[in-house]
Amino acid sequence: MKDTLKHRGMRKNLAEIVAAKGVTDKKVLEAIKTIPRHLFLDSSFEDHAYQDKAFPIGADQTISQPYTVAFQTELLEVKPGAKILEIGTGSGYQTAVLLHLRAKVYTIERQLELFKTTRFFFNKMHYRPKKMIFGDGYKGLPEEAPFDGIIVTAGAPDVPRPLLSQLKVGGRLVIPIGVNEQIMTLFVRKSEKEFEKKEFGSFRFVPLLEDKN
Ligand code: SAH
Repeated sequence: MKDTLKHRGMRKNLAEIVAAKGVTDKKVLEAIKTIPRHLFLDSSFEDHAYQDKAFPIGADQTISQPYTVAFQTELLEVKPGAKILEIGTGSGYQTAVLLHLRAKVYTIERQLELFKTTRFFFNKMHYRPKKMIFGDGYKGLPEEAPFDGIIVTAGAPDVPRPLLSQLKVGGRLVIPIGVNEQIMTLFVRKSEKEFEKKEFGSFRFVPLLEDKN
């Protein structure tokens, strides 16, 4: 698959759509303009890549809508070199956005098929997260904690406690909370014990699945 002038034109347009919906962070918009989203989808669905829509990626999962990716990333306030944990690698598109912002990314995916496909694709594309982990993101990644930011790309019924405890003081957790519909929620760690919670609009995500064992 190639990245052509036509793709670049469509991406520019997509970045404008995302900006029109309210995303203002220039670096985030630049990432949307730069990252070849069509390569994250099966080539037969290329036409869908630059619409502002979620799309199936196999294993009952979806690549998040570009606006949602941009909105969540903006809330995360990623600084170059920041240590970021992502729960739900999926297609890797959100991961690529974080890498574009020069974050050190640790990303967890619990579906083996998706994990393998995306790992292979990242090798081919020379995308370099610090770690790609096959496992249950509900538990976070205690061995690499604390993080400057944690982003969850699936809907959780409630905030997983381990994720809050793995934030640095000043760190930010962006997570969609809810069952049928999710409220985008930001937690900022104010001190060892205090968290500030802010709620944003409603979104629809595939569920964050908890392993029972
Ligand atoms: N950021 C991805 C979103 C994929 S959808 C993208 O834009 O492509 C959400 C992903 O979360 C799915 O791939 C799903 O398999 C994964 N997921 C669900 N529950 C999980 C869990 N407990 N731990 C890690 N990943 C999980």
